[in-house]
Amino acid sequence: MGLYFKSLCSSSSGNSIVLWSDKTRIMIDCGFGSMKRCRTAFREHMNNPVDHQAVLLSHVHSDHISYYPLRVLEEMRIPVYVHNGSVALLRDKHFNGNNFTGLNLQTFDKDAFSVGQFIVEPIEVVHHPWYPTFGFVIHYQTAHRQYKVVTITDFCQWQDVVRQLADADFVFIESNHDLELLEIYYNPNSRFHMPNPETARLLCEARRQSIRPFETVMLGHISSQRNRASIALEETRRAFAEMELDLDFPLLAAPLREPSETVIIAE
Ligand SMILES: [Zn+2]
Ligand SMILES: [Zn+2]
Repeated sequence: MGLYFKSLCSSSSGNSIVLWSDKTRIMIDCGFGSMKRCRTAFREHMNNPVDHQAVLLSHVHSDHISYYPLRVLEEMRIPVYVHNGSVALLRDKHFNGNNFTGLNLQTFDKDAFSVGQFIVEPIEVVHHPWYPTFGFVIHYQTAHRQYKVVTITDFCQWQDVVRQLADADFVFIESNHDLELLEIYYNPNSRFHMPNPETARLLCEARRQSIRPFETVMLGHISSQRNRASIALEETRRAFAEMELDLDFPLLAAPLREPSETVIIAE
């Protein structure tokens, strides 16, 4: 009855995370730069037989999905869930003239849907204005209790997200850039992403609104040039101290290009 999480890669050069139980596995985003890297990820991290598996796309920026991973997903016939407002964008941006007739493309809208043992609630977030973007709240029920997992990267307004994070068991959340490093290495697209202090405030608010601590929180989509894992972690620790809140849960940072440790959410 276990529930597990692993980040496979998490930065502006590629994003993919995996949540699995003994019967169901969901990959969120498949931002591998080549067919080889994508196949390796599936071979090394998606190899246990399960009854149901699917890939969910948060949005269609190239660091989350592109032509080569789509080729692999077509070959493997894995269902790929994309928001119905992003289908045309996905086709225009990533099909490269290929018709992808073998791709098992499924769409979601604002309603929750199920993938095997998981109920997936899409949460629309504010990101780049041309790209509808979603976080996901994923529910998993065992005989004993219900688990709640929240994954949100690529967003820039956190106030509406607080209540989604409250009382989550596991949170994977963007902490994209440090404001001083952004001044040195300016990037106009950073305004569509969460700076460390805003993520820190979001986590403080979410913890304040939760009855119990999170099991674990992992920071992700950390910019390679405009951030460091150590700075992002420290910013959140400092915010909790300043707010006189207990940081009473493990706080981790996803490696940028390598897989993270496996987080055990339920055993
Ligand atoms: Zn991204
Ligand atoms: Zn994006």
